[in-house]
Amino acid sequence: MFLQTKAVLQKLRYLGFNGRQQTWRLKSTSAAERALQYQPGQNIHGFTVREVVAVPDLFLTAVKLTHDKTGAQYLHAARDDSNNLFSVQLRTTPMDSTGVPHILEHTVLCGSEKYPCRDPFFKMLNRSLSTFMNAFTASDYTMYPFSTQNEKDFQNLLSVYLDAVFFPCLREQDFWQEGWRLENETPTDPNSPLVFKGVVFNEMKGAFSDNEQLYAQHLQNKLYPDHTYSVVSGGEPLAIPDLTWEQLKHFHATHYHPSNARFFTYGDLPLENHLQQIQEEALSKFQRIDPNTQVPPQPHWASPREDRVTCGPDAMAPDPARQNTLCVSYLLGDITDTFEGFTLGLLSSLMISGPNSPFYKSLIEPKIGTDFSSVVGYDGSTKEASFSIGLQGMAEDDTEKVKQIISQTIDDIIQTGFEEERIEALLHKIEIQMKHQSTNFGLSLASYIASSWNHDGDPVELLRISDSVAKFREALKEKPRFLQDKVKFYFKENTHRLTLAMSPDETYMDKQAEAEEEKLQKKIQDLSDSDRKEIHEKGLELLAAQSKTQDASCLPALKVSDIEPTISVTPVQMSSAGGVPVQLCEQPTNGLVYFRAMCSLNTLPEELRLYVPLFCTVITKMGCGALDYRQQAQQMDLRTGGMSVSTQVIPDSTHLDTFEQGVLLSSSCLERNLPHMFQLWSDLFNKPHFDNEERLRVLVMMSAQELANGISYSGHMYAMTRGGRHLTPAGDLEETFGGMEQVRFMKRIAEMSDLSQVVRTLPRIKKHLFNLDNMRCAINTTPQKMSDTTAELESFMKDVAGNRKKRKAVRTNIVKKPLDPEDDAGPSRKLISETNFQPCQMKTFFQLPFPVNFVSESIRTVPFSHEDYASLCILGKMMTAKYLHGQIREKGGAYGGGARMGGGGLFSFYSYRDPNSMQTLSAFRKGVDWAKSGQFTQQDIDEAKLSVFSAVDSPVAPGNKGMSRFLGGVTDEMKQNHREQLFAVDHKNLVDVAERYLGVGQRTCGVAILGPENNTIKKDPSWIVK
Ligand SMILES: [Zn+2]
Repeated sequence: MFLQTKAVLQKLRYLGFNGRQQTWRLKSTSAAERALQYQPGQNIHGFTVREVVAVPDLFLTAVKLTHDKTGAQYLHAARDDSNNLFSVQLRTTPMDSTGVPHILEHTVLCGSEKYPCRDPFFKMLNRSLSTFMNAFTASDYTMYPFSTQNEKDFQNLLSVYLDAVFFPCLREQDFWQEGWRLENETPTDPNSPLVFKGVVFNEMKGAFSDNEQLYAQHLQNKLYPDHTYSVVSGGEPLAIPDLTWEQLKHFHATHYHPSNARFFTYGDLPLENHLQQIQEEALSKFQRIDPNTQVPPQPHWASPREDRVTCGPDAMAPDPARQNTLCVSYLLGDITDTFEGFTLGLLSSLMISGPNSPFYKSLIEPKIGTDFSSVVGYDGSTKEASFSIGLQGMAEDDTEKVKQIISQTIDDIIQTGFEEERIEALLHKIEIQMKHQSTNFGLSLASYIASSWNHDGDPVELLRISDSVAKFREALKEKPRFLQDKVKFYFKENTHRLTLAMSPDETYMDKQAEAEEEKLQKKIQDLSDSDRKEIHEKGLELLAAQSKTQDASCLPALKVSDIEPTISVTPVQMSSAGGVPVQLCEQPTNGLVYFRAMCSLNTLPEELRLYVPLFCTVITKMGCGALDYRQQAQQMDLRTGGMSVSTQVIPDSTHLDTFEQGVLLSSSCLERNLPHMFQLWSDLFNKPHFDNEERLRVLVMMSAQELANGISYSGHMYAMTRGGRHLTPAGDLEETFGGMEQVRFMKRIAEMSDLSQVVRTLPRIKKHLFNLDNMRCAINTTPQKMSDTTAELESFMKDVAGNRKKRKAVRTNIVKKPLDPEDDAGPSRKLISETNFQPCQMKTFFQLPFPVNFVSESIRTVPFSHEDYASLCILGKMMTAKYLHGQIREKGGAYGGGARMGGGGLFSFYSYRDPNSMQTLSAFRKGVDWAKSGQFTQQDIDEAKLSVFSAVDSPVAPGNKGMSRFLGGVTDEMKQNHREQLFAVDHKNLVDVAERYLGVGQRTCGVAILGPENNTIKKDPSWIVK
């Protein structure tokens, strides 16, 4: 229905919506309406309907069923959303820390009866247009979800998922590869030492190098010491080698049975088809069993307990002398009591969220620690919930003080309760969350109901959020001390509470390594020569299997011809308010208004650039106008869906050395709160508060801590950002704003005893950024509310007109690009063009206390509009799926690895939680040789195309439509062009771009590694070691 002519675009602007969203409004034929026609008692394909409930707040109908023969439970949420989701979850309750559910989660995806090829899960990533595919191991369940917008694809994926979960091969080789094995360090060399290998083994070593995760694991194990929560479901690295293949198969037989399964489907596809396929391909082949997987209640302690654990020191921590964590955790009630869970969730927010909460005031503001402990607040992911409160980044000497403050704060809450306005602000937040449409709504629902349903709670009751809200209001009205009594009961009088301290130990890493060595020696000391020979042969067999070309023809696949040839158009209109250009985009936003403003950085003095991310973090949190920071936070909660400011580095679509730099202001609100939201922005423009140094210090500490904690989780991103630093001017700015340079800068700021210089810097930045002369805005809302919104925007512009000032750009090389490509004379974006930029090669190593590496190499190639860009996109996906995945994950034992084409014209290789470093760099190079050799098929290319298109066509929420045009000037026409180029990529193009851009001698590249001490790098002077 889309035709790419200007006339149609114009017409569509009047119509308001394009096809898919229009069905949203045709209520009479909606999926939710149709589902209301099911009757309780009705039998459909071996299932019996139990309950049919309309949930108007979420625009859906819930249908609950049970499978007659096996007792499998089923919930369908019918909703007019084309991003359909399936998930099956099994209750998995391990009684040891060998990681059996986690290793099983990995191995079932390695091949099944109907799909016996190796690794169908990863292969399906390239044979489908899925918008999401994954698998999770939680403490007490394992979940397999996928989503897609294509009906045929849904059937394909459902078939592969059902077969994987219920009929996996579970070959011994899969267990070795994914779980653990003994193998020669160099598999081809029988004399190289034996070591532990395995994907999960390395994944868990990586996971527990993250101190926050380590702490969370200890806390759960110790608060629930008597059953499944006392063990590590993901696997304790040194317990993993105790698991046998037989135990794995047994765990599957007892836990992955329909009688222990819960199925969830969501979206606009008809329920009958799902039920029929699930019945025919899986459930009809089973008889009912008693899985006996219930988790018994945790016996209550008669008196509180205390405990202590250690962790590795954190090299990036803001203050090395303050690296202790202390928190008190309370056991609460059963999560299947929906209303009690709802109440405790709200209570938790009131106690800890935002600067108005009592614990923020008593623990964060006195700056005893850098932030709350990694586990904080209500946690409903276990059968009985818990609440935790404490600090990280504190000195050991403050332990008693913190304990005392926690108990005092609880007494104070019982005494004084909460302000009514804070309760209202929270209920407002819930209202916004229900109305805000995200693109992965199905997935959010699946995870929202997973835990309670897992313990036989009622998932439909959970979805009826407004019932809980109403009941909550009623309870408050009847009993003014309702919340205070809860605090008394669950906290003050609760003897099942644990105080857990964690402190760094300089020798932690060495001790871990020693323990691993000891475990290894125990395993190998009794090996005979023939055992060793067998291990070597098995290693070679695995290597051979991993190296063999795979026949995946048994798997279903979409074809390139199944991909929509044209994009769906997003009509926008250009307008202006107070002389500032505004992009208007009409969307079905459920009554929410989304506002954005992009403010250019061009006039900002260079030496202030490093401060911009800090400015963005604090500007909405320090108070403004007549409001101090507490009142400001309160108003933001009461009146908006959030207000934020973030840095933007936007590479130009035509030149590698050209980019736009700025900050993006974003916020949303319910229509009725429009004037309030703009009032808050205008106070920020006209009267921001910067002079509260104490407040600033709190924000700086929290922000530095958050950055330091993020490295072990996003190390590959930091490595890639660093690798791109010297390749383009945009890459350089990315590093300044969001790379290791920024992490170190924030650490320095956090360590300063005097912040007055920072306090003086912030208003200078504000003058340059909040300048109407450098600004453009965007509004997304319903057609009905568009004119009200623009009127409010006009008056906002009048209020802040004093901030308009002509300033000179600090760099003279400015390029103007029209905001509306049809209107050259109209308003424009101002980009920086660094025509003299000299890219240079650089290899950087960051030594960090991790047991695993994050490796990356980036190569300067071409910008978005270049004819070779599409080929490089396809090449990245193909190399990942057909070469790098096998080398880096399967053979190398890393959690992940691959290549991708980035928007800024950088082609990047990466690995994630990788035991290797140099070997991975050489795998990157061999990947290029593989591509140059042209030893791939048309099928390989088609699969890469599907995979690229599933990202290109991933759904965009109504509030985010039109953003690529607003921010980067990427029009629908450019997108369609790119699309056609993607379709056209052929074998010759791929070999050609691999040779021309990626071959040695052709490329300018940057390499960066984050990882543990590395002797090869130390000896090699071509590396810069940080
Ligand atoms: Zn895993």
